[in-house]
Amino acid sequence: MRPARALIDLEALRHNYRLARRLCGGDGGGARALAVVKADAYGHGAVRCALALQDEADGFAVACIEEALALREAGIRAPILLLEGFFDAAELPLILQHDLWTVVHAGWQVEALERTPLPKPLHVWLKLDSGMHRVGLDAADYRDAWQRLRALPHVGGLVKMSHFARADETGCARTDEQLATFAAATAGLAGDTSLCNSPALLGWPQARADWARPGLMLYGVSPFAQPTDKSAQLRPVMTLESKIIAVRELPAGEPVGYGARFVTDAPTRIGVVAIGYADGYPQFAVNGTPVAIDGKPGRLVGRVSMDMLTVDLTDHPQAGIGSGVELWGKQVPAAEVVAHSQTSAYRLLCAVKRVPLQYAG
Ligand SMILES: *Cc1c(COP(=O)(O)O)cnc(C)c1O
Repeated sequence: MRPARALIDLEALRHNYRLARRLCGGDGGGARALAVVKADAYGHGAVRCALALQDEADGFAVACIEEALALREAGIRAPILLLEGFFDAAELPLILQHDLWTVVHAGWQVEALERTPLPKPLHVWLKLDSGMHRVGLDAADYRDAWQRLRALPHVGGLVKMSHFARADETGCARTDEQLATFAAATAGLAGDTSLCNSPALLGWPQARADWARPGLMLYGVSPFAQPTDKSAQLRPVMTLESKIIAVRELPAGEPVGYGARFVTDAPTRIGVVAIGYADGYPQFAVNGTPVAIDGKPGRLVGRVSMDMLTVDLTDHPQAGIGSGVELWGKQVPAAEVVAHSQTSAYRLLCAVKRVPLQYAG
């Protein structure tokens, strides 16, 4: 069997969730954290991750109703928030039937709720566009929308929320500006507040509120270019690994792989690893991207192919066919692979496919 696989450490996932909850003030402070498991839990398997967290998570967040229903079918009973809200008023009965919570981010959704009588109260998170300019109501319309929803008998809980565009940029003034916009637009409106994604939770204590929405950090990957005290406490959840399936002994001056992107400058031992960009490894990882070969630091050389990639074994005389290679995980931080590839930590994880996911913990 092809040796490529992604090991998923569910104990590390729980550790990271607990860290998120501590950071948001959840330990006795009354704050809560929705575990964001959209996009199949950033490539880690949403159902398995949600089951692993269900005893302690305050709830979950997903992008859409399809993702929420998969969790409900697996027996998850905790609250589930639809981060993109409903796409059509026709979804509202299904949202209620499955006890889902929904974001409302646009005026047409407020109107749809006014027009649609519902048999029981719906829990709504009303989103303000505080400066990211993706979705959310403008500050000028927010108060009116809040008051109209508050007046509806079939709207139950009403949480005020917004989302940061640049919280991963340490010290960036834009996050403080968004906070000020949020404070002004929601002043005097009762109810809970939710602002923080992972970078905000890890780097912006002033943004903490009643509910946090950590995603990336649950999977143990830092959103920051440089590690911080808090991001260093995260434990990687996914370890992507495979094995060496062929070895080449090459003299100086020989090209390796497509496009001859790497040319040996001395006699070189090359190992071919059974994993490639069709498995989610970044296609544009540069020569020198870190890997671990039999537990020791090594480097990628040559262009990544669809099913294979090549590593330098010259300084790994013991390694050969069958040696294990870690692409990222416990030994090679995913953030370092990101720094060597034209990608982000988010896309790196979401891109993982074809490899079997194997769970422990
Ligand atoms: C995806 C998402 C999150 C989680 O963001 P991370 O940076 O992965 O923690 C939080 N809130 C909203 C609205 C999202 O879309």
